[in-house]
Amino acid sequence: MFAYQNKMSSKDLKFNSKTIHGGQHPDKAYGAVMPPIYQTSTYAQSTPGGHMGFEYSRSANPTRTALENSLASIENGQYGLAFASGLSAIDAVIKLLNPGDEVVSTNDLYGGSYRLFKQIFEKYGITFHFIGMQSLETIASHINDKTKLIWVETPTNPMMNVIDIVGVSKLAKEHNLLLAVDNTFATPYLQRPLDLGADIVMHSATKYLGGHSDVVVGALVVNDKDLADKLYFIQNASGAVCGPMDSFLTLRGIKTLHVRMQRHCENGKVIAEYLAKNPKIEKVYWPGFETHPNHDIAKSQMDDFGGMISFVPKGSSYEDAIKIVENLKIFTLAESLGGVESLAGHPASMTHASIPKEEREKSGVVDALIRLSVGIEDADDLISDLEQAIG
Ligand SMILES: *Cc1c(COP(=O)(O)O)cnc(C)c1O
Repeated sequence: MFAYQNKMSSKDLKFNSKTIHGGQHPDKAYGAVMPPIYQTSTYAQSTPGGHMGFEYSRSANPTRTALENSLASIENGQYGLAFASGLSAIDAVIKLLNPGDEVVSTNDLYGGSYRLFKQIFEKYGITFHFIGMQSLETIASHINDKTKLIWVETPTNPMMNVIDIVGVSKLAKEHNLLLAVDNTFATPYLQRPLDLGADIVMHSATKYLGGHSDVVVGALVVNDKDLADKLYFIQNASGAVCGPMDSFLTLRGIKTLHVRMQRHCENGKVIAEYLAKNPKIEKVYWPGFETHPNHDIAKSQMDDFGGMISFVPKGSSYEDAIKIVENLKIFTLAESLGGVESLAGHPASMTHASIPKEEREKSGVVDALIRLSVGIEDADDLISDLEQAIG
């Protein structure tokens, strides 16, 4: 029995129902409509091996199973796995590989993923190529007979580049490679990588899925049973599982994902357009603009464009940008994204501080770049806040 298997026939539900009902059923003990927080490490057995499907909470826990079934449902997958963090979910995927294997990934990758690949896994003999993934020819030129995995993140952070998932998946299939997509920024409300040909979809559920900045959780969803078994083996053997309380909170967050995302997208559009016509702003990065270099791909693989925006104020220095983010009153200056509250960040001094200036400027992360995670507050209040902070 696979405790993580989605057994509900929620395939026919529309997305806005899957977030609430997908893979869910009232609890078997007392009919609780919300899954109880099974805060237990172990389960009574009537005879050795005589248990009700759960024997130890690293291997499976009913609250985590409820979350894993929900994750599978919203990503149109068969199998969901919930981890202690986004990075531990990525860690499990790389543990599918062996020394000598190679991975092709984007040069505009989440910093923590880059650090995990470079500083943990390279010393175990796995080689990573970080390249511009806008061109399929560039990707193809980095594939050789040692390549086993392509790791895509789209849209990227903080430059909002968009990578063609269908195009990359064709390439992956041609060369018999696994394709994993970090879907943290888009969420399945906007983009469903498994439907576009990916083998693995990964989330930092810390962000939009949880949605309330109150948990650190990771997720993987796959369709292939063999791949699910391998990842489940790693999850149980390495042990970075999502706890019952965090599973409960993430599941609670997912139930409103579609209404939150709708507002994130509406507010994101209003704010991106406000910034674009503000004479004090030099550049705005948001995939919804027709002038965005990957707008056509974004339009074809995403249902809307989200609430993540980066911008550069005109003639601003490193210090000027810091002053702007410090002056914001409704936007909170903080790491992370995807919560109901609006956040602002200064990549050059925060998320990208460890990357040398010349390196980060090559990918567009200039000193004055500011990143916004637009929340679901009233858009007028958010614009007034930006107006007073930009000055
Ligand atoms: C935050 C984030 C991660 C890492 O997830 P954690 O939950 O912080 O471990 C990975 N990818 C992206 C795109 C992220 O934003």
